Amino acid sequence: MKHTSDVIIIGGGVIGASIAYHLAKRGQSVTLLERSRLGTEASAAAAGMLGAQSEMEDTGPLFQWARQSRAMFPELSEELKSLTGIDIGLVREGLLNVALSDAQEQELRAREKLQRAAGERAEWLSAAAAAELEPALSEATRGALYLPEDGQVEAPMLAAAFAQAARVLGAKLQEFAQVQGLLTERNRIIGVMTSEGPLYSDRVVVAAGTWSGQLMAGSGIDLPVYPVKGECFSVLTEKRELQKTLFTPGCYIVPKAGGRLLVGATVVPNSYDRKVSLAGLTDLMARAKQLMPAIGEAEWEKTWSGLRPQTPDGMPYIGKVPLFEGLFAACGHYRNGILLSPITGKVIAQLVSGEDAGSLQPDLDSFSPDLSGASKRAESGRLKGEELHSIEAAH
Ligand SMILES: Cc1cc2nc3c(=O)[nH]c(=O)nc-3n(C[C@H](O)[C@H](O)[C@H](O)COP(=O)(O)OP(=O)(O)OC[C@H]3O[C@@H](n4cnc5c(N)ncnc54)[C@H](O)[C@@H]3O)c2cc1C
Repeated sequence: MKHTSDVIIIGGGVIGASIAYHLAKRGQSVTLLERSRLGTEASAAAAGMLGAQSEMEDTGPLFQWARQSRAMFPELSEELKSLTGIDIGLVREGLLNVALSDAQEQELRAREKLQRAAGERAEWLSAAAAAELEPALSEATRGALYLPEDGQVEAPMLAAAFAQAARVLGAKLQEFAQVQGLLTERNRIIGVMTSEGPLYSDRVVVAAGTWSGQLMAGSGIDLPVYPVKGECFSVLTEKRELQKTLFTPGCYIVPKAGGRLLVGATVVPNSYDRKVSLAGLTDLMARAKQLMPAIGEAEWEKTWSGLRPQTPDGMPYIGKVPLFEGLFAACGHYRNGILLSPITGKVIAQLVSGEDAGSLQPDLDSFSPDLSGASKRAESGRLKGEELHSIEAAH
């Protein structure tokens, strides 16, 4: 039997590429298989926010991971640049979580307390103080929660830098290599079947984003992942109109280099089609104008969409898949895969190398793709497809 490499990774988005990089850094031989071009699905569509505080409604395990992952970016940015020459565009200007209604103000004031109690920087600003920081903010602003530590990167550059750095360190990255199924023998993984034939390895990581659930279902593994389409658009401004990201329910505006403003994103559950709809765009435009009226004067650039990989309970699957020895999952990062990519890559590389995840182990239990009745996830109850829809609508 031909042994391909120490580890096979399925999927060349930001998650697969980060895992390839972290494994290659440890000296493991890695083959990454991507069915189309590297980094062209969700990872190319992302706004690149590192919203460890703005995205998290509580201070549970996902928040703990998110803030640890966010803290990895400054060093990672240097590391990737020196290996590849690629600048991931890390900006640490902070984010304003803007309240446009009383209810939002109450929610954000409560969140300020929660985050401060967790040791994070968070400061409620009056409407006047927020306008002083960002004069382009709407006069309808009731105030804003200022989160100075939530930065941003250029998501497509991050995915490209991880992939290139992995390549520099010896990883083999194969594009247009579709994995058709997992190869197993009794209770262990032995490789994958690709469009070009079988590839063998006794350690395989599924990092195929939205398509991960289907791939595992083929081997009787019940770890569902759903697509949630997000549509975005961007405009160009002559001078820099914003320093910080503006974020409010249903809309964010992220200032990028060269006066570009990235506006996202709609939430369309269970859609595999990536069409950008006029209804989605007009809704997003109206929300963006509510947040920053002057955006109406900006020059149109482009629109696009991507499929966020979501799980029924909203937690990613990160860890060993218990049915088959040697099989690992790293998928279902939903709205935060860019933010969580460094920590996911590091932890999966540790687990695949046979080490435990050290201080991250207790939190890791919450993401464990454990299929047994006694799992923490099973206790909290799996949600059904219809319930997922109402969660999205409420977001
Ligand atoms: C509009 C939008 C905005 C977002 N904004 C942010 C943000 O600001 N911050 C943030 O942290 N996150 C954000 N996200 C979420 C983030 O983009 C995702 O969580 C992340 O990109 C998921 O990465 P991934 O590698 O798991 O998936 P993907 O990037 O989808 O990669 C999966 C890869 O697997 C490949 N694949 C699938 N099946 C197979 C197979 N059988 N064989 C071989 N290859 C296969 C696919 O072709 C694909 O390239 C956003 C997402 C969207 C859509």
